[in-house]
Amino acid sequence: MSSANVIEIFSSVQGEGKYIGCRQVFVRLAECNLNCAYCDTDFKRSDVCKVETSAGAMTFRAVKNPLTAAQVADVIKSFCAQVPTHSISFTGGEPLLHWQFVRDVASLIKSFGVKVLLETNGTLPDALEKVLDAVDIISADIKLGQALSLHERFLRAAKVKDTYVKVVVTSETTLEEFLSAVEMVASVDENLLLIVQPVTAVAEVKAPSAEKLLSLQAVALRRLKNVRIIPQTHKLINVL
Ligand code: SF4
Repeated sequence: MSSANVIEIFSSVQGEGKYIGCRQVFVRLAECNLNCAYCDTDFKRSDVCKVETSAGAMTFRAVKNPLTAAQVADVIKSFCAQVPTHSISFTGGEPLLHWQFVRDVASLIKSFGVKVLLETNGTLPDALEKVLDAVDIISADIKLGQALSLHERFLRAAKVKDTYVKVVVTSETTLEEFLSAVEMVASVDENLLLIVQPVTAVAEVKAPSAEKLLSLQAVALRRLKNVRIIPQTHKLINVL
């Protein structure tokens, strides 16, 4: 059974994307293969994992890293017994850097009756193939301004699942880079849900104007059937 460096495990509401508002258990895994300017997550490896003391308590105990898949499955089981839970979100960092661990935990929690959601930056298609059968829902980012070939390979594999695409836009996002992403998604499947997420401003990175958001949605709707603008909401209500 595998182990991994886990940053935190807690029960909260999903603040982004298609399943916004659903109660989930979050398993945040260390490390990422990207370095986005707007990143709001501390994903550095840590000696200890913060494990919420009970589901939704927002207080934590420290557990020595790395954690085994069985340890994580036990925490999930306990939280799901305390609060009926929609799904387990494997997030990061980039959870696909730990695809074997995600597989192992998913297999241990199969009987709990909760879905497995992968929140990924959508750039590791080979790792996705190895975990695909263990996952129910995929939230796949597209990082603008980068080559789209990895994202395209990723989405072609992911679309057999309940998959949606999220693109974070800022005041600096250009129509050209946004349209390239839209065209790529449309070439994979025009029915894929695209979520346009205005960035939560951080340091030098500013949110787009309302006019810009509306015009980006308008152009995307010419190529895709389902395009929604959804900001991060967990920060509005001060939950994790
Ligand atoms: S992919 Fe996600 S976790 Fe990684 S640097 Fe970008 S925003 Fe942060």
